[in-house]
Amino acid sequence: MRSPHRTGMLDRLPAVFEEEADSRVDGFREECGVFGIYGHADAANLSYLGLYALQHRGQESAGIAAWDRTRIVVEKGMGYVADLFDEARLARLPGRAAIGHVRYSTSGESRIENAQPIVYKTNKGPLAIAHNGNLVNADEIRSELEGEGSIFTTTSDTEVFLHLMARSRRETIVGALRDALARVRGAYSIVLLAGEAVIAARDPQGFRPLTLGRMGDAYVVASETCAFDLLDAETVREVEPGEIVTLDSGGVSSASFAMGRRTSFCVFEHVYFSRPDSVVFGRSVADARRAFGRRLALEHPAPADVVVPVPDSGIFAALGYSEASGIPYGMGLVRNHYVGRTFIEPKQSIRHFGVKVKLNPVRSVIGGKRIVLVDDSLVRGTTSKKLVKVLKNAGAAEVHMRISSPPTTNPCHYGIDTPRRKELLAAQKDLEEIRAFIEADSLGYLSLDGMLAAAGRGEDQMCAACFSGRYPVPFAEIEEQQSLFPRID
Ligand code: SF4
Repeated sequence: MRSPHRTGMLDRLPAVFEEEADSRVDGFREECGVFGIYGHADAANLSYLGLYALQHRGQESAGIAAWDRTRIVVEKGMGYVADLFDEARLARLPGRAAIGHVRYSTSGESRIENAQPIVYKTNKGPLAIAHNGNLVNADEIRSELEGEGSIFTTTSDTEVFLHLMARSRRETIVGALRDALARVRGAYSIVLLAGEAVIAARDPQGFRPLTLGRMGDAYVVASETCAFDLLDAETVREVEPGEIVTLDSGGVSSASFAMGRRTSFCVFEHVYFSRPDSVVFGRSVADARRAFGRRLALEHPAPADVVVPVPDSGIFAALGYSEASGIPYGMGLVRNHYVGRTFIEPKQSIRHFGVKVKLNPVRSVIGGKRIVLVDDSLVRGTTSKKLVKVLKNAGAAEVHMRISSPPTTNPCHYGIDTPRRKELLAAQKDLEEIRAFIEADSLGYLSLDGMLAAAGRGEDQMCAACFSGRYPVPFAEIEEQQSLFPRID
């Protein structure tokens, strides 16, 4: 079924009211999701299901590329997986090997040319690639290659991989990929289709998750294990940081290009990005969020009657807070799951819908109560401010805001769309100023040490740069000159 907010007459209405509609708009944005399968007669159909499970990682575009025994066929477009693919479109993707991608643009504009998988005919045969992450030296490599005559067809950093592979003098695909990976720096979990072979690789720091699974005789790789659950596939293991895994008629083979280095797993995958029913970096996301909430309750207790999550990402942290504090848990806000990331207000003169388009208070839960409101992060603060107001207007006696991560003081350079530093509230204001801005009765953030302890790894294994400012991979200082991740829709 097509989502009503994305089609028909709403598309023709003029006033786009994105800011207010998306409760995550002042948060960090999702990045991308990748999927690959080798050895199944329904490879494209299973890719569709895999991408469906990964939809939360990117809603701008989606695509599937399949090997039909003679060439790589690709179907992709702008929009949601369920809106883009139907039986007829999937039937145009035959074969036993396929890769797929859902995209949110952190590098390159949001347009069809940048939708993935990107397919190229190269001197090593046809190649398709899907990428989750962000290369910190893509501009530099691109300029160099363009200076030597290369012609890029997209503005996405992902295309750099294919150009570097095509220029490699090595004869094998894995050899060419090794050459390419030796040049790039930053975050990448990539899946390639090279003829019938599916190849997966993860950057040496392992910023983004990537896991190998099995379905009978077929093998699958996916950004998150929730994709395996939908397919009834079993998790085999993570693709290791610095590893290249090849799935082909010989089974699974592994090659290291930079294994054994210090890792930089993105802690924000646990805080917000990944689905709670996934296991990433060897840890259940739901368990990690619950541990954040328990720790938060110990660090920042509140005199309250009920713990209310900001759904959906605050749910498990609020459960943890409730467990540790003994304060009952209550669903005081209900989320409308049918609002897309772009809500079009029919006529702004009718009324100002605000955050209530997506989150509506349950008066019987919050009326007259002192509330602990638990959210995963506070970035610009605009949504928190509105939610405090919504709860108070609905009868809450007090609202104590608790954030299950530390203050976000720095932007991400590794594949997450973040506001510039000057737009990050915690980079500009102290705790009391932020509390006053959001008009909460009290405010408490989980500490950096507390978050890492609850995540089960230290900063020597995880990236927490958006909280600490300690970036594990250097990047060019371009932040104040321009938006890091310009969006031109
Ligand atoms: S800077 Fe933050 S969002 Fe980016 S990779 Fe590091 S922890 Fe994740």
